[in-house]
Amino acid sequence: MTMETGISVERAIELIEQNTLPVGTERIEATRAHGRILAEDVCAPISQPPWPRSPLDGYALRAADSAGASKDTPRMLRVVDTIYAGGWSEVTVQPGECVRLMTGAPIPAGCDCVIRQEDTDLGAERVRIYKALSAWDNYCKIGDDFLKGDKLLPAGTKLNGNALGVLASAGLHRDDERLTVYKRVRCAVLCTGDELVPNAVRPLPPGKIYSSNEAVLSSRLSELGMELTVVRGEFTDDPAALAAAIREAAGTADVIFTTGGVSVGAKDILHETLPRLNADRVFWQVRLKPGSPMMFSIYDGKPLLSLSGNPFAASATFELFGRVLLSVRSGDASLRAQVVTAELDTTFEKFGRGRRFVRSVFRDGHVTIPQGHSSGQLASAVGTNCLAEIPPADAPLRAGSTVRVWLL
Ligand code: AMP
Ligand code: MG
Repeated sequence: MTMETGISVERAIELIEQNTLPVGTERIEATRAHGRILAEDVCAPISQPPWPRSPLDGYALRAADSAGASKDTPRMLRVVDTIYAGGWSEVTVQPGECVRLMTGAPIPAGCDCVIRQEDTDLGAERVRIYKALSAWDNYCKIGDDFLKGDKLLPAGTKLNGNALGVLASAGLHRDDERLTVYKRVRCAVLCTGDELVPNAVRPLPPGKIYSSNEAVLSSRLSELGMELTVVRGEFTDDPAALAAAIREAAGTADVIFTTGGVSVGAKDILHETLPRLNADRVFWQVRLKPGSPMMFSIYDGKPLLSLSGNPFAASATFELFGRVLLSVRSGDASLRAQVVTAELDTTFEKFGRGRRFVRSVFRDGHVTIPQGHSSGQLASAVGTNCLAEIPPADAPLRAGSTVRVWLL
């Protein structure tokens, strides 16, 4: 494979998609499937509701028997039964008859509508009807929610509360009901840099910094539903050690993220590490800021996304590209960032030939950029919820401009 370099954001996304496969599926108990992604369609074994249902407290009748009814000209009907939610009646209602019923009760045969009790005199044996109804008024038909045989949940559905509720209303949220779901994606995070020390080191030695990228990436991976198998925050710039760590990580992880060492400096060790592993390099360097010296390769069938070490660069490129990778690998299309347009509330002074992605706050169609957006700064990213895309330009982007916003 020949490595592509200096590519666009779109080409990078395309190459990630083309070189990534879903992790595969497993059968698990429906009751343990919360948060997972369905890998097969699930069809309804029953209709819901299973029988015509009353949506309110009132009387079930034939609409024809209410013709011309009003407060001044009520129609009188004979009440032949009373049905509560959970009850059942075998009666078939005849002309001139009706049935008293409560919300959630089955509507008996012979009726085609339900009148709310407020439109009657609430009679027990005989009831006055004060309103003319049409057929199917207040009549909740069999399968109003779903019909037996309907596709209940299509493959790709995220099994959140509503989806599991739908399964439950079809009787499928059970320990002995298996669902085919995508396996959870296992991820490894390895951060490189001679300057990095773990948080446990006190005091901070001269020339060193605490590694923060593994905290950012591992938190985001957990938030996105991934499983973490390896999280290491402090690799020295030693290609042999990193190669060994990647080799080991590939044994437990489906996706490997590294940070640092992808630029053109003397210690940018990924260039030496990947050949040692015989990894297929797919691309290096994407035309964006921050994080342009990003690299994507495949090692032992596992995608390896190597991000720039600058904390915000690592975070932004993870959101833009890491999530595409995870989305394909996990089968979860919702992991891809949603892109909307918004009105910029702050003039953005920096401009240049490249596309820039800036931490921002999106709210009600407006986007605000906080102070402090260099790729080495992380503090101002706290509380932001999107990346605003600043297009190439030869002048600052003025407040009031429309920008594309990638929601996080
Ligand atoms: P690199 O991508 O290795 O050239 O690193 C770029 C900048 O990011 C340097 O200033 C590094 O010290 C910093 N950096 C690299 N890795 C980390 C990390 N894990 N946590 C915090 N800063 C880092
Ligand atoms: Mg470095």
